[in-house]
Amino acid sequence: MAKRPDKRSASDLIPDRPTLIAIRAAAKDCQACDLYKLGTQTVFGEGTKKAALMLIGEQPGDQEDLAGHPFVGPAGKLLDKALAQAGIDRTTVYVTNVVKHFKWEPRGKRRIHKKPSASEISACRPWLDTEIQLVKPRAVVCLGATAAQALLGRQFKVTEHRGTFIASTLAPLVMATVHPSSILRERDDEARHREQDRFVNDLRKVARALSS
Ligand code: SF4
Repeated sequence: MAKRPDKRSASDLIPDRPTLIAIRAAAKDCQACDLYKLGTQTVFGEGTKKAALMLIGEQPGDQEDLAGHPFVGPAGKLLDKALAQAGIDRTTVYVTNVVKHFKWEPRGKRRIHKKPSASEISACRPWLDTEIQLVKPRAVVCLGATAAQALLGRQFKVTEHRGTFIASTLAPLVMATVHPSSILRERDDEARHREQDRFVNDLRKVARALSS
């Protein structure tokens, strides 16, 4: 018999004694908001439980949705390169998103990213909160405005405060910077290189703070 949909809130799905493996498995059946109807699958965070650094983006993209893994598409490849340039070993980082399903709208044959709503971000928040509780990273970096405003307040402006450590209960070190996908959208190579350098500089600050 086909499995019945689970309409409970995300917090109701979290096991009493959560582990990363258990919550990842539980999130596969999450239907706490309507995005499960759009996405191919839940794309949960990935990385070691001992990660000192957690990177939090907005939501999985087209390729992440199909692969079932976060940050594996073009933006993920740019992120990998930037981490390497900043001297951060990607295997020591936990990567996740504030929303675990891909929200999109059709444009011809393409699936175009659509920003998640405040209610979708709120519905998904228990998964992220539990990831943070379990990993207990020393540093959290919000990638892009959606993640930054979800975690640091709606008034937070990445354009003004990127690369600056922010006092927060999330972790001892908290910073926001741009989402790597915004670098890919820059108008030409010169702008892309400039923004990539700024992104790497932000990550270097985190690397330095973590090693001091
Ligand atoms: S986006 Fe989050 S809350 Fe919504 S169905 Fe997916 S996992 Fe559940």
